[in-house]
Amino acid sequence: MTAYDPENIFAKILREEIPSIRVYEDDATLAFMDIMPRSDGHLLVIPKTPCRNVLDASPEQLSAVMLTVQKLGQAVLKAFDADGVTIQQFNEAAGGQEVFHLHFHVLPRHEGLSLRAPGKMGDMEAIAAHAEEIRTSLAMT
Ligand code: AMP
Repeated sequence: MTAYDPENIFAKILREEIPSIRVYEDDATLAFMDIMPRSDGHLLVIPKTPCRNVLDASPEQLSAVMLTVQKLGQAVLKAFDADGVTIQQFNEAAGGQEVFHLHFHVLPRHEGLSLRAPGKMGDMEAIAAHAEEIRTSLAMT
């Protein structure tokens, strides 16, 4: 498999070289808003240490990330009064991956509402407001 590229965009977010809207972090993981949200509250969870995807992740990276995915899944369910949560994850270009630092998508879902098409920039003010709702939901747990 191709080596991890430390210049990928999520590595730059981790080093704060480019901005992100962060909603949660602990020693091992970071959660921040997707800038092209496919549903309101769409966020990403990443490990703070380098790996491309599930295929080269260590057991420690996987377990830390999954615990944060669960925490954020529960938080968005409450924050958006959602009916469900879609968790998505892609491995390598042929598997649909575009950014090569392990990440899980957390997408709040409502009955009868489809995901929006991928690749469309969101309204940053709306995304920031959704982030604040998630932080509030986390603070109540
Ligand atoms: P994928 O690798 O296919 O899971 O897709 C990468 C995801 O990262 C897409 O949903 C993008 O909208 C998202 N994305 C790309 N650049 C940024 C960024 N600078 N901040 C937040 N999300 C991003």
